[in-house]
Amino acid sequence: MAELHIVVCVKIVPKPEEILVDPETHLLQRVDTRSEINPPDMNAMEMALSLKDRYGGRISLLSMGPTYFEPNLRVALAMGADHIYLLSDPQFAGADTLATTYTLAEGVRKIGGVDLILCGEESSDGATGQVPPGLAEWLGSSQLTLLTEVSIDQDKRLARGRREIKGGYEVLEVPLPCVISVKTACNEPRFMDFSLRSWAEERDRITIWDADSLATEPDHIGLPGSPTVVTGLAEAPYRDRRREFLTGTQDEIAQELAEILKRSL
Ligand SMILES: Cc1cc2nc3c(=O)[nH]c(=O)nc-3n(C[C@H](O)[C@H](O)[C@H](O)COP(=O)(O)OP(=O)(O)OC[C@H]3O[C@@H](n4cnc5c(N)ncnc54)[C@H](O)[C@@H]3O)c2cc1C
Repeated sequence: MAELHIVVCVKIVPKPEEILVDPETHLLQRVDTRSEINPPDMNAMEMALSLKDRYGGRISLLSMGPTYFEPNLRVALAMGADHIYLLSDPQFAGADTLATTYTLAEGVRKIGGVDLILCGEESSDGATGQVPPGLAEWLGSSQLTLLTEVSIDQDKRLARGRREIKGGYEVLEVPLPCVISVKTACNEPRFMDFSLRSWAEERDRITIWDADSLATEPDHIGLPGSPTVVTGLAEAPYRDRRREFLTGTQDEIAQELAEILKRSL
């Protein structure tokens, strides 16, 4: 088998404390918010790096989003990936999971020669978990979700993985190429390699493709390609929290606590 080529799908997300939604359009407001790599994608990244350590090959990072995501992606590159592909075009904006997976699938096709596509379990902002299965559907490839371990049989062109189930785990096997979502927190992502930092900053490390370069169908991308409509938006009601300090000896405090608990039943 030729060298293993892994694509890791990396979403850049707003820091959770800075997520803002436009009350009129119901779209995420990204400008003026600080961004980070979607934390579960760090587990997918670590899975890819450990497979590269074991079998060799190369890792491409694939992301759809605005060009100002570039610095975040270069951090992932300095963890040990080989190249970044950023799909960026104003026409991609407002994509739901259908349009996102179509666009990412076109990116995978254009990269070419991909054996394995790793995704995080879900994003910290959209959190649908629909992207990995959707991507497999557009690509017509096999898929495994929520794996905690992955190994590759290069001769038989198979991916094998372990998924935890109630009271145990199952071992699953699918032909390559395949899409795999990696269970959040199943491994400990390594730190960026500081010796790779300046290499990762080089201009040639990133390829940016717009809608024309991908030759995407205009009615499959962005808002026109997104049948999902956010029809309403509401704030969760604020709940006042009560706090009370008990004083006295341990016995008195225990007695009073028991009284309070009894009254609240
Ligand atoms: C009507 C509508 C409008 C929307 N408008 C916007 C908008 O304007 N801006 C916006 O940011 N979001 C918007 N969204 C949210 C958008 O649909 C999702 O962010 C996107 O489709 C990915 O879904 P998710 O976040 O649930 O990913 P999940 O399925 O939860 O993510 C699983 C994994 O898929 C991969 N992945 C997900 N997204 C990407 C990506 N972009 N690039 C690379 N890998 C990825 C990652 O590995 C991730 O861990 C909109 C949603 C709807 C319904």
